[in-house]
Amino acid sequence: MCPDSFATAINFEYINCAVGVFERNLEVNEMNEHKMEPIPLVDLATQSQAIKSEVLQRMEAVIDAGRYILGEEVGKFESLFAAYCRTSHCVGLANGTDALHLALRALGIGEGDEVITAGNSFAATALAIRYCGAQPVLVDVNEDDFNLDVELVEAAINERTKAIIPVHLYGQPARMDEILGLAKRHDLRVIEDAAQAHGAQIGDRRCGSFGDIGCFSFYPGKNLGAFGDGGAATTQCSELDEHLRLLRNYGQRVKNRHDLLGFNCRLDTLQACVLLTKMSFIEGWTQQRRQVAEWYKEDLQETELQLPQEREGVRHVYHLYVVRHPRRNEIIASLAEQNIHCGIHYPNPLSTAQPFQNCVTLPMGLPRVTKLASEIFSLPMYPEMTREQVARVSSAIRQSLATEVGVR
Ligand SMILES: *Cc1c(COP(=O)(O)O)cnc(C)c1O
Repeated sequence: MCPDSFATAINFEYINCAVGVFERNLEVNEMNEHKMEPIPLVDLATQSQAIKSEVLQRMEAVIDAGRYILGEEVGKFESLFAAYCRTSHCVGLANGTDALHLALRALGIGEGDEVITAGNSFAATALAIRYCGAQPVLVDVNEDDFNLDVELVEAAINERTKAIIPVHLYGQPARMDEILGLAKRHDLRVIEDAAQAHGAQIGDRRCGSFGDIGCFSFYPGKNLGAFGDGGAATTQCSELDEHLRLLRNYGQRVKNRHDLLGFNCRLDTLQACVLLTKMSFIEGWTQQRRQVAEWYKEDLQETELQLPQEREGVRHVYHLYVVRHPRRNEIIASLAEQNIHCGIHYPNPLSTAQPFQNCVTLPMGLPRVTKLASEIFSLPMYPEMTREQVARVSSAIRQSLATEVGVR
């Protein structure tokens, strides 16, 4: 029920009451309405206001110059983003799914090959593997960091395995040391799915700089988001950089010469205007996300909720603040009653989706991914969140935990 109709219904009952009571009642309603102000899962519009005029200025320059495809803003952004990821190359692409698809193609992965990835990722990771005719092999994850269990990755390697795609899920880097070691021993390629991990680090190295290729998404809700779709691939290898540039532009080395099966998946110049502008803000926003996570921890660490655990030596960038509780559906519902909106990332293991019905898993299946899918939920998380908003979410959760224990 929306707060307005609630207020109307209450007021109607009091319509014949003494004026004093009626007025007091209005005040109470106003107070409740303030308390019921929505706290969304993410708040994109607020962030956009901060950069709007600079973005419009850049876009106007593009419109006036008439350089709409691969305009100079794309190249400028690529240089900045490569520097940000501490890689030597970055190729701007149409979206994160294309980044994964082209990365697999650039590394020569195709029909008959197996690619190992995490069973709890977003569908795009496994879809991209399917696009090039390869077989996704879905592996279970750790319960502490929700990322690939390296022992199980090793158990899944066979003579058909060509690559591993670790996913830095929710913004926490996967165990890259171990994964790179495995890849070296078994001669496998490594593609990082860093769609949720812009600026995340292990030591002083950033996600996207560990594997052969790093894949990023600039979908609006990501830590670095365009005003539409966008993506990029990062690499330290100039041959791969060149190959990715061919693949994104019809396989065209020079105009009208098509040297390989290419695609059309360039980063749009107008989106590059947004991303270029946001590059001066990304570090600050990331620090604010980490501050919000710190506040949640202060408020909730004594509860029975499992909170995100930042691994030692790692910089988590909190794309999502994912917590865990066996009665997650009840908690989500009780927060919704207070106009606080949570998400679930993701409610179903990849192995249950139609395109992955015949995917390979290890004989034990995905018991942890399956259990997590029924217990995890994402609390509101965006850089502009205030201390008061975090406190309101936390106290609503505490309330819910306290009452629901009694109900069961
Ligand atoms: C968002 C996302 C993608 C896909 O990116 P798009 O830009 O939406 O195509 C891939 N993998 C993960 C983990 C993601 O979160």
